[in-house]
Amino acid sequence: MTDRLQEQGQAAPADTTVLSEGIAAPVAAETTEACLPEGFIRLGLAPELVQAVRDLGYTQPTAVQDKVIPLAMGAGEDAGRFIDLMVSSQTGSGKTAAFLLPVLHTLVQQQAEAEATARAEHERAAAEAAARGEAPPKRPKRKNPMQARSFKAATPGALILCPTRELAQQVAHDAIELVKHCKGLRIANVVGGMPYQVQIARLQNANLVVATPGRLLDLQRSQQIKLDQVQFLVVDEADRMLDLGFADDLAEINDLTAARKQTMMFSATFAPRIQQLAMRVMHDGGASVQRVQIDTPQEKHANIKQTLYWADNAQHKRKLLDHWLRDSTIDQAIVFASTQIECDGLANDLQQEGFSAVALHGALSQGLRNRRLMALRNGQVQILVAT
Ligand code: AMP
Repeated sequence: MTDRLQEQGQAAPADTTVLSEGIAAPVAAETTEACLPEGFIRLGLAPELVQAVRDLGYTQPTAVQDKVIPLAMGAGEDAGRFIDLMVSSQTGSGKTAAFLLPVLHTLVQQQAEAEATARAEHERAAAEAAARGEAPPKRPKRKNPMQARSFKAATPGALILCPTRELAQQVAHDAIELVKHCKGLRIANVVGGMPYQVQIARLQNANLVVATPGRLLDLQRSQQIKLDQVQFLVVDEADRMLDLGFADDLAEINDLTAARKQTMMFSATFAPRIQQLAMRVMHDGGASVQRVQIDTPQEKHANIKQTLYWADNAQHKRKLLDHWLRDSTIDQAIVFASTQIECDGLANDLQQEGFSAVALHGALSQGLRNRRLMALRNGQVQILVAT
């Protein structure tokens, strides 16, 4: 419960909804310009990504995005050089887009360069054939990856590691939203609990893979995926990764992706054990790693009192929650749930019990999320149940 209460101060920036709504509303042609996400354009991101960011209703980069994106892209003084990064930033800070956008930007650029080279090569071959009076060479046919005979192990250029299935699925979902205008860039999600065959089929031609370590190593050992072409490795929620006992898996993945150009590690804190992990997985033992620390909202909100209550079981926890929510001195409350399913279930239960409660999570449309947050602000909703 403490975790959840701590997250309360870390929800998306307060102005997110208002800014997003400006985008969600129908825009007249003359106001379209005003809605361009200037902050993201300034960061030098590929137009396809800027368009996706705009579709998502993001108008300005969050603090972590503003700091991390240029560093990760190797912009300015570091042009063309990819540096290792260690970022302390909380869930809700916009950290997912902070690592996805720079990685996707480089993949988009590399893909465009590869296509230009292939086109030039084809044109040269066609010109040579014409000079010999022959027909131009045919372009190679695209193979259907679903057919067993055209199977090729996936060789992603970027790998994002997450400690839990839910987080990996949410990160993959965000990545899919961000590449929706990027032709031919494929995202795959590798997590336990999904049938192997489905996962293997979806892995084909994947450029960016979001995975939990266990299932990823299973697929690597059975040669469904090769990790030697990974250029960018991101370890998300590194602290939870260690809590969940993934240290050995991380060491193995570190070796398998030894030729990579960049490692980024995101963690809520830079606790000593995280620094030790960084020393093991970063280039030069972490000697040249750049640290980015984003102030946590808790430091700014000294008036938040945190209390931990132990519950004997789920039923007991539910009763405690009911008890607090019936406290007449509490006008409004935010209750955090760990999964989207739990979030919907709890909001429904609370509604049945007569509370004015709504759910808020990433599977809901941005418009609905905005309306629900606004209803909370206006006092029309008493309890927000959120991931
Ligand atoms: P994260 O910290 O990555 O879990 O992101 C928290 C939430 O903030 C997600 O729902 C994102 O969709 C949202 N978000 C991320 N970046 C921005 C931004 N620049 N503007 C508005 N919302 C954002």
